[in-house]
Amino acid sequence: MKVFVYSSHHFEKSFIEKAAKNKHELFYSAYSLNETTAKLAQGCKAISIFTSCDASDKVLDKLYYYGVRFIALRCVGYNNVDLARAQKLGIKVANVPSYSPYAIAEHAVALLMALNRKIILGQELMKKNDFSLDQLIGFDLHGKTVGIVGTGNIGSAFASIMNGFGCKLLGYDIQENKELIRKTNIIYTSLDDLCKQSDIISVHCPLNTSTKYLFDKNAFSIMKKEVCFINTARGSIVKTKDLIEALENGTIGSAGIDVYENEKDIFFRNHLNNIILDELFNKLISLPNVIVTGHQGFLTTEALTGIAETTLNNINEWEENNKCKNELSITNL
Ligand code: NAD
Repeated sequence: MKVFVYSSHHFEKSFIEKAAKNKHELFYSAYSLNETTAKLAQGCKAISIFTSCDASDKVLDKLYYYGVRFIALRCVGYNNVDLARAQKLGIKVANVPSYSPYAIAEHAVALLMALNRKIILGQELMKKNDFSLDQLIGFDLHGKTVGIVGTGNIGSAFASIMNGFGCKLLGYDIQENKELIRKTNIIYTSLDDLCKQSDIISVHCPLNTSTKYLFDKNAFSIMKKEVCFINTARGSIVKTKDLIEALENGTIGSAGIDVYENEKDIFFRNHLNNIILDELFNKLISLPNVIVTGHQGFLTTEALTGIAETTLNNINEWEENNKCKNELSITNL
């Protein structure tokens, strides 16, 4: 079958090729899916898309017109797909519901550790032959309270690591994870209490209508002054303008960010010869108490293997049975 792979990156191609086992004719493009690029898929029954792609209603209409009947997401989140429209058109959509949750959980820990122990500043000073330690004081994680928002696959993996550090765990989720309570003694609480009591807050819930801007001025205003806020989930769960204000005026201590609300036009490409005109983003990365990575939480060999294998399995199952087990429907909204 002909499959058009949008937003394809050099780093993932070999993983996709290996998982495809020469079964399909794959066409790769660095372009993200949008109203203009939908036409590129003409002649392909299936496409594969990524987080930076736009599969909103108008784009889906175009895809349908060009003959596309199956969309295989190469990610967990599907906030960029209008599932209701897809269902109406009869376009099936499947995601990769899970792949190494450790990749993202460990990246969240990396952001936390780098911020807390001032690793980036320490390196910069050392390269200038400045070995003074005055600006590099961190805090012990042992005994601190860690608030985890979303305790699914990734949130649980993060919780287990923090449990190993000797932290006290607070959780906020619409569904309690009994196994996690048993393993880590995590205590579920309201979001307000989690915000008030935590020394570290890490976000691992999906982006949907109830989590958009879950973290705004109000949420930041009740957090501890020194709190270290980590978001490796989705950018729009956080109102970036309010986060910047909270970091600037000392309402919160620091932030480690792997996802940004307007990342679609910035991340996953080289802008060496461009000026980034996004003032919000420029402000965010300029702050000394912030580390931003470019949505690289999933970038481990294990995660890329898992993503490629599940994506190709989804395509194979759909081709063979006209349905697949990871199919999404509007009940997933
Ligand atoms: P998951 O479905 O296993 O867990 C999500 C958890 O969030 C579930 O326990 C769910 O009940 C909870 N939840 C849903 N709505 C909520 C709400 N309104 N408030 C609080 N909790 C809520 O998903 P996962 O595999 O752990 O992934 C979590 C998110 O991480 C994904 O949705 C995706 O956006 C993000 N992600 C980021 C990267 C990255 O590279 N940075 C990679 C993969 C996933």
